[in-house]
Amino acid sequence: MAWFGYNRYNSHGKRNFTVYMNEGERYQIEEWVKKYPNIETGGDLFGAWIDDRTAVVQFVLGPGKKVYRTTGSFYQDIDYLGDAGSYLTQQHGLCNIGQWHSHQGSTRPSGGDENTVWGNMPNLGLNRYIVIIATITSSSRSYYNENYGSSYPSAYSDDERITVNINPYLFEIKDGRKNDVLHGSFHYMTQNSPFRLDKAIEVKVAVEAETINNVASYEEISAEENRKRSHETGKGPVQPESKESGL
Ligand SMILES: [Zn+2]
Repeated sequence: MAWFGYNRYNSHGKRNFTVYMNEGERYQIEEWVKKYPNIETGGDLFGAWIDDRTAVVQFVLGPGKKVYRTTGSFYQDIDYLGDAGSYLTQQHGLCNIGQWHSHQGSTRPSGGDENTVWGNMPNLGLNRYIVIIATITSSSRSYYNENYGSSYPSAYSDDERITVNINPYLFEIKDGRKNDVLHGSFHYMTQNSPFRLDKAIEVKVAVEAETINNVASYEEISAEENRKRSHETGKGPVQPESKESGL
């Protein structure tokens, strides 16, 4: 994959970490996080390493039905990860290169996250592992839905003001030593991942999924974002009937 190769040469020894991901996959994470704004949720990342510091996330797996979560922790449905993961690896060549989960506070992996990941990597035979932490901002009211009662604090909310931010972190073991956890950056690719649009994958991962999201086309996502943006800035003079330029 030569087109990613330049990353190797512009770092000059600096530890850069870059994650390539389709905007459609970012949208998937955002939608899952918005469903559980008051409690942790998460899933797993499938794709490939381009080089030591560059990964491409080609498919994001959401939570399975038997997920266990609290406000401060998230445990993926291991059977779901196992089944969907083997399918994605064996039928589509995608590796499990990391995981993602939401936090109510810090944008960084917690001490508990670090212990868990560092502890699991040798068992899984991994030298590199990505953790994406998702956080919600600009939430100005409580999203608690009283209809569910206090035993079920994970109420669904569809408030438009919710913004989900995601940050990638690299856990890396080199020559048997743990490097400092490295905060990276995303390089977004337009459109949906071809794996997101694959009907066989869609059917397979939906069966034991806790929830699934619409697979919106990139055009729909960007049209929606433009609509929200023009709504927010709608106090200016009204535009004449100019036709918006498609994208
Ligand atoms: Zn965490």
